[in-house]
Amino acid sequence: MSAPLAADAQLADVRALLTREYGIDATATPLGGENRNFLVVAPDGRRFVLKFMLDGRMEQDLDLEHALVEHAAAATIPLALPRTVRTMAGAVGTRATADGALPRGRLLEYVAGTPWCESARATPARRRDLGRALAGLDRALETFAYPAAPPRTRRWDLRAASQHRPTIDLIDTPDRRRLAETMFHRWAACASLGLSTLPCSFIHGDANDENVLVEGDRVVGLLDFGDALLNPTVCELAIALAYAMLDTHDPLAAGAEVVAGYHAVRPLNADERRVLFPLVCGRLATTVTVAAERRGIDPHHPAWFITEDRAWRLIEQFAAIDPAEAQSRLTSSSAASTGAPASALMDSRRRHVSRALSVAYLEPLKIVRGAGQYLYDDRGRPYLDLVNNVCHVGHSHPRVVEAAATQMARLNTNTRYLYDELTEYAERLTATLPDPLEVCFFVNSGSEANELALRLARAHTKRRDVLVVDGAYHGNTSTLVAMSPYKFMGKGGAGRPESWVHVVPIPDGYRGKHPGRERAVGVAYGDDVRDVIASAGAPPAAMFVESLMSCGGQIDPPPGYMETAFRHVRAAGAVCVVDEVQVGFGRVGSHFWGFARQSVVPDVVVMGKPIGNGHPIGAVVTSRAIAASFENGMEFFSTFGGNPVSCAIGLAVLDVIRDEGLQARATRLGDRFVAGLRRLVDRHELIGDVRGAGLFLGVELVRDRSALEPAASEASHLVNRMKDRGILLSTDGPLDNVIKIKPPLVLTEDDVDMVVRVLDDELGHCGI
Ligand code: PMP
Repeated sequence: MSAPLAADAQLADVRALLTREYGIDATATPLGGENRNFLVVAPDGRRFVLKFMLDGRMEQDLDLEHALVEHAAAATIPLALPRTVRTMAGAVGTRATADGALPRGRLLEYVAGTPWCESARATPARRRDLGRALAGLDRALETFAYPAAPPRTRRWDLRAASQHRPTIDLIDTPDRRRLAETMFHRWAACASLGLSTLPCSFIHGDANDENVLVEGDRVVGLLDFGDALLNPTVCELAIALAYAMLDTHDPLAAGAEVVAGYHAVRPLNADERRVLFPLVCGRLATTVTVAAERRGIDPHHPAWFITEDRAWRLIEQFAAIDPAEAQSRLTSSSAASTGAPASALMDSRRRHVSRALSVAYLEPLKIVRGAGQYLYDDRGRPYLDLVNNVCHVGHSHPRVVEAAATQMARLNTNTRYLYDELTEYAERLTATLPDPLEVCFFVNSGSEANELALRLARAHTKRRDVLVVDGAYHGNTSTLVAMSPYKFMGKGGAGRPESWVHVVPIPDGYRGKHPGRERAVGVAYGDDVRDVIASAGAPPAAMFVESLMSCGGQIDPPPGYMETAFRHVRAAGAVCVVDEVQVGFGRVGSHFWGFARQSVVPDVVVMGKPIGNGHPIGAVVTSRAIAASFENGMEFFSTFGGNPVSCAIGLAVLDVIRDEGLQARATRLGDRFVAGLRRLVDRHELIGDVRGAGLFLGVELVRDRSALEPAASEASHLVNRMKDRGILLSTDGPLDNVIKIKPPLVLTEDDVDMVVRVLDDELGHCGI
């Protein structure tokens, strides 16, 4: 801020300026407020406000503001606006005086009325009138265009509220930090997805209770267009609501009056109604974080903190309200049906669904919608999904949904007919792989793909035995459970491998038999494979290995591991099968396929999960030579595998990964995540290890960093607490003490930073 204009001496300058520039011989009296304003009264009684620009705003801003007010004033809306009075020379503003005594200023028509905040308690009628008045203004501004407007991102731009999220740290109490986090979370869950498709127009953008002028039950004027900007139009209403709901007995009822008034003049569409409450939450969060930021600049500034306490009270009320209920009350619409409650579904599952299926979290979630990186429960609460690497390009990605619907409406058949989608997909998929991986098989799940990979390896080598990695999971069929130490050594398992299965050590540089992350460690683990082959009794058909292990505890094998292991496997005449079900399709960031990080080329690659973004697809890609060994006359047929709908979906997923740059994004966000998590290592003893690549990360919790005692109950506690904070994580690993992070790749920087902040907070409650 510039220094305030010195009082008396400058009054004379101000009067001189009025005479010189406007030809009015007027009195000028300073007005209060954040800007330096003067009330100007001409001899004939006409009143004006002279405003000086102390905030370094641009010429263009002034011109925009002027044009916008003129446009709105020309439409006959029942709202008085501060129109600019031109100088005698026809200019919109005055020049700064040469001696610098007065900055640039402009003269505005005086707008009569009492500021909302100074008037008697608002009545329902006045609230409705506020809605009507703003809707009238917004309708008038729908036709306003200002081509020269530079894109403005301002402190109060509700679209850009995330700019204040990092300053949550400046809020002084943990409870309030949590509340602000919740408000921003609600805002982000709608903003990061929905705002760009909403109707957009110039809006006033700051209908706060000082700028809205009233007379009795009527709203008669609106001041200060300094925050006007091109925005989703509904932000106008959301911002007004964040003030009109302050200090009310029943904020949602009060807000509903404003919304009803607005809707009567400018009807809100379904998307606007859906984002309204989260936007109000975002505005309130902005108010309190900006106040926290400003406290560091000047804790005694008179105008900066007037809304803060009231905003906190509203935030406290809002945090206790389910977003779905808030939306329905605010927009006076019945809540969308969300079906049976979670408890009824649990009862029904107990009766009609096998109890061998598990349900996540102590208090299970009923999820009704997914979009991008978010899931929404039946109460409208958003959850940032950090677990689902199946919805790789984001839940319900519009391009994937569109591809599925279009193809489904056109044709779905099987591979016994010729259709373009199959070959196009096979060409596109193999183009992502190195030679000689060129022959595709399409099936319907990761399990089916691993089953087929086993058949290929056995057909090619005419052997039966396989090598698998300790802790690995490859699928749910009888054969694959027998090949998954995660299962046969885990709960309910037989506890020992079948004779044809040989288990090699888990290449875990943290708690495995060879500690460390350097190449020598990778080579040592690779050499273990040679030893197991030597003692196996029968030569193997294949080694199955994940490029990074998921169920095994988010293990990233040290460099040199696969190269060494593959050398031994091939020397024994076996084939190398890489299971990319968890990590393929760009998740590891540096490469499209996880195995490429280990500088190897497998003989068979197995794909699943992300390949169809949730649509059940599995695939196996191998060399012509191995495929040929399988072509013995027996037909291979999968009824659904490779059908045109699946192929269209698979193609759409590849397109989105490419067009949205998701592989590079995985690197960028993964690096940011790891850096944030590593900072937490210094602050929380519980974190033993942070590992992974791209957006495939693991955080291993231990009670003791030297004994590595696994902190499984703490991990489970943390995951449940994080769920209550709106963040979905899960635990895994043989000791169930590893937090898995493998979100849809559409995650944002803000999401990452938020997760690190909330983890930091919650780890403080998981003490050892
Ligand atoms: N391989 C790996 C590495 C997996 O993690 C999984 C599933 N968790 C599978 C295979 C089996 O895939 P699906 O569940 O699609 O059969």
